[in-house]
Amino acid sequence: MFTDLSGPTVLVPTGSMANDQELPPPVLPDHEGAILPVPPTLPTTASLEAALEVMRSSLREARDASTDEEQLTGNCVLVVEGQQLVGILTERDAVRWALSDLPPNQIRLGAVMTHPVICRQRHECLDILATMSLLRRQRIRHLPIVDEWNHPAGIVTITSLNRVLKETFFLRFRQAVEVMSTAVVTVRPQDTLRHAIQTMALRGISCVVVTELITSRRGPSRERPIGILTERDILQMRRFALSLSTTQVDEVMSAPLACIHPADDLAAVRDRMQKLRIRRMVVANDAGELVGLITESNLMQSIDPVDLYGVYEILQRQVSILREGQFQLLSRQRFDLSRALANREFRLVYQPLLNLGQGKIRSAEALIRWTSPQHGTVPPCDFIPLAEHSGFIVELGDWILETACQQIQQWMQADGQAIQIAVNVTAHQLLEPQFVAKLLGIVERAGIPPALLKLELTESVLVENTMATALCFQELQKQGIQIAIDDFGTGYASLSYLQHFSFDTLKVDQSFVRGIHNNPKAQVIVHSVLDMAENMGFETVAEGVEDPEELQWLRNAGCQVIQGYLIGKPLPPAQWRPEWLSGAVLPPIGAATDSGGREDRQASSPGR
Ligand code: C2E
Ligand code: MG
Ligand code: MG
Repeated sequence: MFTDLSGPTVLVPTGSMANDQELPPPVLPDHEGAILPVPPTLPTTASLEAALEVMRSSLREARDASTDEEQLTGNCVLVVEGQQLVGILTERDAVRWALSDLPPNQIRLGAVMTHPVICRQRHECLDILATMSLLRRQRIRHLPIVDEWNHPAGIVTITSLNRVLKETFFLRFRQAVEVMSTAVVTVRPQDTLRHAIQTMALRGISCVVVTELITSRRGPSRERPIGILTERDILQMRRFALSLSTTQVDEVMSAPLACIHPADDLAAVRDRMQKLRIRRMVVANDAGELVGLITESNLMQSIDPVDLYGVYEILQRQVSILREGQFQLLSRQRFDLSRALANREFRLVYQPLLNLGQGKIRSAEALIRWTSPQHGTVPPCDFIPLAEHSGFIVELGDWILETACQQIQQWMQADGQAIQIAVNVTAHQLLEPQFVAKLLGIVERAGIPPALLKLELTESVLVENTMATALCFQELQKQGIQIAIDDFGTGYASLSYLQHFSFDTLKVDQSFVRGIHNNPKAQVIVHSVLDMAENMGFETVAEGVEDPEELQWLRNAGCQVIQGYLIGKPLPPAQWRPEWLSGAVLPPIGAATDSGGREDRQASSPGR
C-alpha cells in the first residue's frame, strides 16, 4: 500500500529515485525524530571486545546523562570499511559469540557482524509506516541510514519508531492479551547459562523468561515467572568472565520482575515500558502464572495505519499512484475493445422470459458475449465496466441497440409472435445528451414499434443524477419505450426512491431468488417488493430462477414473469426453440400447489 522498501538488501544505495520523487511519500512532521544520530562505528578489523566496550560506554554515557540509552546509541555498532557501511553488530550477534570459546579480544568484527546489512537512505525512511513494515518483514530491530555514498548517517530502531508515535496511533481500548505472544520460551533458575544462551541462539530470540514450576495435584503444572534473561544481561555477565557451564541463570537474570495483566490497556503498557526503559514485559494472570510476553514489536503490531495517516491521505496517495497507470491501461483497453468491435468479435445472445399468467415466452433479454482471439471468452461483467470507464460503452451500446432492434424486426417478420427485447443500458449511455434522439433513430431505422424495446437500467441510475434520469425516463416513455429496473435490491436505492420515477418493470435480483423457498428472510423481502410493485403498477420479473421450487414459490407469491436457466439459457437466435417463438402455451414447470408461497406471504404480512 505504501512505498515498498522491501527491495533487495542495499549495500550501495541505488542512484535514481525518479519514481519516488514524482510521488513523495506522505511525511508526518515529527517523524524525523525516529532517525537517531550515527551510532558508534568501528572497522571490520576491530575486535569484538572493542565493540562491546564501545557499546557499554555509550550505555554508561546515556545513563549518566539520564538520557534514554537506546535513543542515544541505537545499542549497536556499525561496521565500516574505509567509510562505507559493510555490517552491523547488535547485541544478538555478540551473544551468539558468547558461546564461542575464543576470548572476545581475538574475535574480529568482520567475522561476527551481520552482513550484508539492510540499510536505507534518509528520504526513504520518512514514510514511517513503510519503515515499520520493513523492520517487521525483515525481522530486524535496527535499520542503518546511509548517505548517497553509503556512509553511515544515522539509525532507525524499533524503539525509536515506537517513541515518536503518539498514543493515539495505538489502537485504543485494546488489551495486552490481544497482541501478546503466548509461545514464551522459558528456562529454570537452576539451568546453566550455556543452556539459556544456546536456547536463545537456536530460536533466534532476544530473551528467555525464567520460571518456577507450580505443581498441582489436580491439573497440569503451571509456570510462575520470576525473572527475565536478556541479551544485555548475558553481555554484562561475559564482561566478568563468568563460566557459562557453572553459572546459573538466577545469578544473572533481571529480577524482580514487573509483570502486567492480560487485561491491561495497551497504551498503559506502552507508558510503563517507556518509564521503566525496558523493551519487553511479562504477562501473568491473577494467580501469578505466566500467560505471555509483550515486546516492542508486539506493540507495533497494534498500531492502526488508518489512525496513523488518516483514511484521506491513504486514499489520496492510492489515487495518485493509480491514476497514471490507469490512464494508460484504459487507453489500451479502449483500443482493444474498438478493435474487437471492428473485428466482429461481439455477438448478442437472448434469454427467454416466461410470462407465468399466459404460460408463454413474450420477451427476451439481450446479453452481450465477447469471444476474443487473445483472451478467449470474456464475461460481460469483466469488459462492460472497462467499456464504461474508457467511454467506449457509447459506441458499443449503439451497436448493441442496433443489433437488438434488428433482431426484434427479424422475429416480427418470422411466422411467430412479436418478442419484446430488453437491452441493458448503463447510466453513462442514458445521460448522453442525444441519447433519446439517437435511440428513436435506431428504432425507426429498424422499423419496429417502440413498445417492443425495453431498456434495463440498474438501481444506481435512480440515485445518481436523479433529475436528469427522471426527465429521460419521461421522454422515453412518452415515445413508447419501456424501462425496467434491473438487479433490484442490490443497489442503494431505497423503496421511497421509486415514487419519483416512472418505469414499467422491476427485476428482483437473483441473489434473493436463489433458494427462496427455504429462506424466510428473503421471502419477507421479496413479498414486500412484490406488494409494492403491485400497488404501484409495475410488472415484476424474478431473475435467475434455476429450480422448480423457486418458480413455484414465486408463482404463488404473485410474481408475473420468470427469467432463468430453468426456462432457458441465453442463446443465439438460431438456437431459439420454435415453441418460444410460436407463442405456444408451455407445459407448467414444477408441481402446482394451492398453498405454498401465498400462505407464507400471508403469514409474513401481518394485518393483511
Ligand atoms: P443482468 O442484466 O442482470 O443479466 C442477467 C445475468 O444473469 C446474465 O449474465 C445471465 O446470463 C445470468 N443468468 C440468467 N439466468 C440465470 C440463472 O438461472 N442462473 C444464473 N446463475 N445466472 C443467470 P451475463 O450474461 O453474464 O451478464 C451479466 C451482466 O452483464 C448483466 O446482468 C448485465 O449487467 C451485464 N451485461 C450483459 N450484457 C450486457 C449488454 O449488452 N450491455 C450492458 N450494458 N450490460 C450487459
Ligand atoms: Mg439485465
Ligand atoms: Mg439482472
